[in-house]
Amino acid sequence: MTIDNCGANALRLVFNSSRCGAARTGLTYIFKGVIIILANYGYEDGSGHYYIRIDTGKCAECAAKGCIEACPEKLFVTELDDFDDEVVVIREDGRNTLQTSCALCKSEGKTELCVASCGKDTIGFSW
Ligand code: SF4
Ligand code: SF4
Repeated sequence: MTIDNCGANALRLVFNSSRCGAARTGLTYIFKGVIIILANYGYEDGSGHYYIRIDTGKCAECAAKGCIEACPEKLFVTELDDFDDEVVVIREDGRNTLQTSCALCKSEGKTELCVASCGKDTIGFSW
């Protein structure tokens, strides 16, 4: 993990890890006392970049965690973050097959089931 001082009232913490070809990367911003945490889970290959981004700062405040039940591939699991808040992450053994796992949800330009269940603009996709 690296920590950068980004100026007045702002810190940026960066972490990276990679296992079995699938990566977990993240940025944590602390700006004027507000914590913004963006985590990316996925991989890249010859056909493209396949990452799911989760703004886990919003998950800490979410009691329902509807994404867990909504995902037909059961990709979302809970974890305690560095601040002891319960957030969701993409399960480790699902991170390097996202293109295949999410294909049906993402077909025909439909809103992904996880995004629809969340409604907080928390989940994003790189493809
Ligand atoms: S992704 Fe959305 S629904 Fe899932 S825990 Fe985070 S805020 Fe809640
Ligand atoms: S797009 Fe579908 S399969 Fe992929 S994480 Fe979201 S709900 Fe799960």
